[in-house]
Amino acid sequence: MTRSTRQNDDERMRANVPPIDFDQDPPPTPKTPAFADAVDSLTPALDRINLDKKRGADDLRVSFDDDDEPRSTTSRDSKRSSLIDTPVGIKQLKHSPTGAASTLVLYSKAGLGHDTGAKHQESVMRLAILGVVTGGLRETVEARESTFRAPLGDVIRVHDVDYVRSLQEKCAKLPATSLDTASQGACLDTDTRLCANSLDAALGGCGAACEAIDLVATHQAANVFVACRPPGHHVGPRGAVACFRHFWKSPDMCSCGFCLLNTAAVAGAYARYRYGRPRAVPEQARVLRKVAIIDFDVHHGNGTEAIVKGLKPHRERKPLPDSWPEEHHDVHKPWLDESDGDEVFFGSVHLWDAKGAFYPGGGGPNDSSATIVNVPLSAVGPKPGDVRARQALSASQRAKLCQEAGDNLRRDVSAQLLPALQRFDADLVIFSAGFDGYEADLYHWFREEDYAWLTHAVLDASPRAACVSILEGGYSTWDWPPKVVSRAGTRRKASEDDEVAQRPGLLRACGAHVAALNARAPPSPPPRGF
Ligand SMILES: [Zn+2]
Repeated sequence: MTRSTRQNDDERMRANVPPIDFDQDPPPTPKTPAFADAVDSLTPALDRINLDKKRGADDLRVSFDDDDEPRSTTSRDSKRSSLIDTPVGIKQLKHSPTGAASTLVLYSKAGLGHDTGAKHQESVMRLAILGVVTGGLRETVEARESTFRAPLGDVIRVHDVDYVRSLQEKCAKLPATSLDTASQGACLDTDTRLCANSLDAALGGCGAACEAIDLVATHQAANVFVACRPPGHHVGPRGAVACFRHFWKSPDMCSCGFCLLNTAAVAGAYARYRYGRPRAVPEQARVLRKVAIIDFDVHHGNGTEAIVKGLKPHRERKPLPDSWPEEHHDVHKPWLDESDGDEVFFGSVHLWDAKGAFYPGGGGPNDSSATIVNVPLSAVGPKPGDVRARQALSASQRAKLCQEAGDNLRRDVSAQLLPALQRFDADLVIFSAGFDGYEADLYHWFREEDYAWLTHAVLDASPRAACVSILEGGYSTWDWPPKVVSRAGTRRKASEDDEVAQRPGLLRACGAHVAALNARAPPSPPPRGF
């Protein structure tokens, strides 16, 4: 094929791509064509996963019926109060003694349409578990579905429009359903998969996050947790962020780390743009001007950091090989005005090693400034990701590592993050809430009490702030704690593990964070602005 023929084909392909459906208003019913396709295509995927065998627990069996309603196949009647069956209106929310609404979970079902294949770490099961299994997070707080899709204007405060367009073109070329055969999907890079619904899922997550901002800005909820996927914190303004500690310095050769759109940054930009001015809209009850994004995913939030750095006019080195002469370009992508650089704070708590061997390699001890604070934690125990070594540990060995990881977290966050956050005095805290540091996952040794402590510590350091939390990573979709199997011919006493009901690790860690959000009293003194 000649170059000109390929160019003509490319142009024809582009001409055939429909425009992005950036609807301002939510669809009239939850059953939009895209959603119905997503649920239809989910059924074979969830059947294939066969949770019944995997978990050995009847009430963890998940499937979808013809009415698009998630259900458990046992005790179905008692568990039919799912997110879709009984959407909880804002007026129905629990109220604290002071009268302010409490925590709400917003669930974006668009994320169920983002198929990465049953074997992919960032699978649809993550969201299914949080929303479907035995009530998921609804045991902790009230929940309802968000059907918004973020409009283009809300996305391009953070991302370049040609990056969003490239995502849309890639998704439009894929078959409408790609779950029957995983190979029908495509790869954005080495580990970020795409299907036809992927951009719709990412826009649904951003739409839910912006809806969450609306709810806290108008005092309809004290804080909101957004259950959505794919995650977002590794993607920068133009997609993958160059990994300066690795030999691959070109963004084309880096990974978006399962992320498509930076949901937390889109929410932060929306908050500042829409509510960063007093009485910007009639129903506004808070001014959300000073925004702190706090990322506790076990991986450094390199995409969010790049976006926050871009709020100040600066020059960036182009990601060229070391042997090439240095080239720079000017970068500035404001959310509101010139005050962005001083009024947006980013803090990231993550694993890090000096050789840059742990993805994505940035966020080291020398990578902090007044408004960007990195808290690099050292790995404890087996090498992160070494599943066999983790599985070989006894319960007491795991407990010791958890103790060490929890102590280190409290020491380093208290010394490095909290004082800077206190000085910043945020109007809004956005958590990039990743749970892949949980002991049941593959990398680190946090327990539920560590997520609860971190949530309280960050909010205590931001006493006036409203809070929106957005799901990032967290992949332990299997039951935890592991059952202790007795060896044949031996008798043993019941262990403590036997007394603890098994639940998916992701649900445990996320539930602890959401419960901590819910326990937080409404901010005092009353928010400024009126
Ligand atoms: Zn992660």
